[in-house]
This record gives sequence, C-alpha cells and structure tokens, in this order.
Amino acid sequence: MALSKFNVFIDNVLFNTLTGYAIELDQKELELLKRGEVPGHLKGIIEEGFSSGFRDLENTVENFLKKPILEPTLLLTYNCNFDCSYCFQKGFRKDLSVSDRVIRGFINYILKNHNGRKVRVTYFGGEPLLELRRIEEISKSLPGVDYSFSLVTNGSMLTKGVVDRLTPLGLSHVQITLDGPREVHDRRRYYIDGRGSFDVIVKNLRELQDRVKVVLRVNIDVHNFHEVDKLLDELKSEGISNVRLDPHLVHTNLFRNEWWENVIPRETESDVLLTFWQKAHERGFKIPQDIFRLGLCVAYVDEDIVVDPEGKIYPCWAFTGNHLYVKGRLEEDGTLTLNEKLLGRKTLRIREECKECPFLPLCFGGCRFLSVLEGKGYNGLDCRREAYEKIVKLVKNIMR
Ligand code: SF4
Ligand code: SF4
Repeated sequence: MALSKFNVFIDNVLFNTLTGYAIELDQKELELLKRGEVPGHLKGIIEEGFSSGFRDLENTVENFLKKPILEPTLLLTYNCNFDCSYCFQKGFRKDLSVSDRVIRGFINYILKNHNGRKVRVTYFGGEPLLELRRIEEISKSLPGVDYSFSLVTNGSMLTKGVVDRLTPLGLSHVQITLDGPREVHDRRRYYIDGRGSFDVIVKNLRELQDRVKVVLRVNIDVHNFHEVDKLLDELKSEGISNVRLDPHLVHTNLFRNEWWENVIPRETESDVLLTFWQKAHERGFKIPQDIFRLGLCVAYVDEDIVVDPEGKIYPCWAFTGNHLYVKGRLEEDGTLTLNEKLLGRKTLRIREECKECPFLPLCFGGCRFLSVLEGKGYNGLDCRREAYEKIVKLVKNIMR
C-alpha cells in the first residue's frame, strides 16, 4: 500500500492534510512508517486515512465544488458606526447602503439557485446591523427555502433583543471582534466619535454567548500580539468562555500602504499564531477541530457570490470595494454577468511547485488577495509552507 504524499509527521503523530486523520504512534510504528512500511495491525487505519493520492484530492475538490449548500454573502452597506484604525474599507468607504434592486436580485439569485439545497447567507458590511430591516426583509422573502444566516458584525448593536429578533428568522452564528484588553482594543476599534467600544461589546457578548454561536475574532499585529494573554484573562474574568476564538493576522490593503509597518513579519506569523493558541489552550479555550480544513476558499466557488451594496460581485470579502477586482454583476432578476478572468473554475489550478507539497490540500497555492498584495498578481503563489510546518503542531493539542 502506498502511503499518501499528504502525510505529515509531527513528533510521534501522523497527520494527513487531505483526510484530516491523525494517529499517535509508538517508536517502532513511527520508524516503520517513516521508512514507508505499514505495520500489520495499522493496515486498516492507514488505508482509510493515510493512503490518499492525487486522484483522491481531485475527487475531494470535485465533491467540494458540487456543494450541498449554497453560501452567498451580501454586504448590506459600506457605512459603519466605527472607524477602526486598520479598517480595510477606509480607503473607499462610501455613504452607500444596499438598494431595492440589489435586494431583489439577491433574493431572486437564491430562489433560482438553491435547487432544494440548504442556503446559508453571510451578511457583512461596513456594519450590517445598520441595515437590520434589510436582513429581516430578505429572511422573510424565502418561504420554503432551508435558509439560515450569519453576521459579521462589530458587535456594538448586537443586543440580546436583536438576537432574539433574528433567531426565529434563521440566525445561526455571529462573528464579533475584540482586539485586546480594554485599553488596547479601544485604541483600535472605536466609534466614529472616538469612544472606545470594548465595554459595550463585552456586555453584549456576556448576554448572547449562550443564545447564539459566537466566533470571536482577534485581529493581531505588532502592537497587540503581546496583549493576547490579558485579553484571554479578561474574557475569563468577564465569564466569556463559550466562544470560538479566531485569531487573524492583520494585513495591509491595496489602498493603505501605511499599515505595512504594523503587520506581523511573515517569518514570525506561524510563531505568533502558535503562541496565541497555546495561550488559549492553557486557559481552557478550545482549539477548533476544523482548524485544518480543505483550503478552497470562496474565491474558487463561483456560485457562492460575494455581492456589495451596488450589486458588484467580488472573488471574496477582502477584495470588496476594489474596482480592479470586480468579478461580475448581480442583476435584478437574479442572473449573474461574470468576468471570465476571475472565475474560480478558471483560476483553480494546481501549480507545479505545489505538486509535491504535503500541505497542498490545506493551501492550494495560498490566498488570492495576499498574492495580489505582494505584487504577484491574482494568479500568483502565496506560499506559506514554512508556516504550515510549524502550525501543524497544533494537531497534537486538538487530539488531547
Ligand atoms: S467595524 Fe469593521 S467595517 Fe466598521 S470600521 Fe471597524 S473594521 Fe471597518
Ligand atoms: S503554495 Fe507552498 S505551501 Fe502551498 S501548496 Fe504550494 S508549495 Fe505547498
């Protein structure tokens, strides 16, 4: 039996980046497997989880693209009640909210394309809760559709009352951001008038963590990564533990080069993430089971449209508002006009350099947005192999 090229040894653990299987090995098993020999008693498990080849990868991708769920995203507005220091939309924030025409187009798109499948919508902004009525309007216009939705919100307006109003309409989870303990968070994420937002978000979080699933995003750069411990301790002391943590390294955007100097240097990215998760683990926060999943992002899935308030379609959230990367247009009747050059099925290809890489299923050549940021163009390689080699060590913590 041939061992998979997607197997990675992490000390005494064998992990497969395609199947997600991980097993602990004793010294003898480890030595044999490293030599390419399969111990007799492990044949079953190795065949199931550690022998996948390139063909299996292609099948997995094909199955993934045949998605059982339709997952479109709608930016309801570019407006926001915050003015975060690093907001990637600062450069092009327009006083613009979604029009009736786009709302009708979005509803028609779902009606035309769900084909009996589940529909999971993400509402994004600016601040999507500035357009709460639009969320209600769309949610009530899809009778007979197996519909649910999530919100990417700054959390300031997400009160218990709002959650209770949206839950019967299909609210499944929310993503909220806290960037550090109070003084650190408030220096970065403040209201338009300069007031800090930490207290109001923590109050809301406390009240809603048991009513709705919460993904707690922490945007990390050189100024706050030393403050992660304090944030985690503060969350604990505030009684906030029922959240899924989501550390995210802040990058610059195409318009605001001044942010470059604050970005975590690429060579230390993996150490920063590893440290974050270790600290979280020590404090009893869970490392999500699906932290290592198939690396096909929304940019490759053409039916999972990301639509802005003007009806423009983008490859993913990070490109929104950038006129150079408009992937197409959503028409009022729900049809799409798409730009061939940015089509997922045209841009998804396995590069020569990646064919022997064990991290290919997690990566697929990296992030399209980061490739553009680094001047390599939309189809360039955004290789983070060194980072994967370190980060994959977290598999051991997940197994515990
Ligand atoms: S809350 Fe989000 S959209 Fe609003 S300013 Fe902050 S980063 Fe930008
Ligand atoms: S970009 Fe780098 S890490 Fe990603 S699959 Fe290719 S070689 Fe591997």
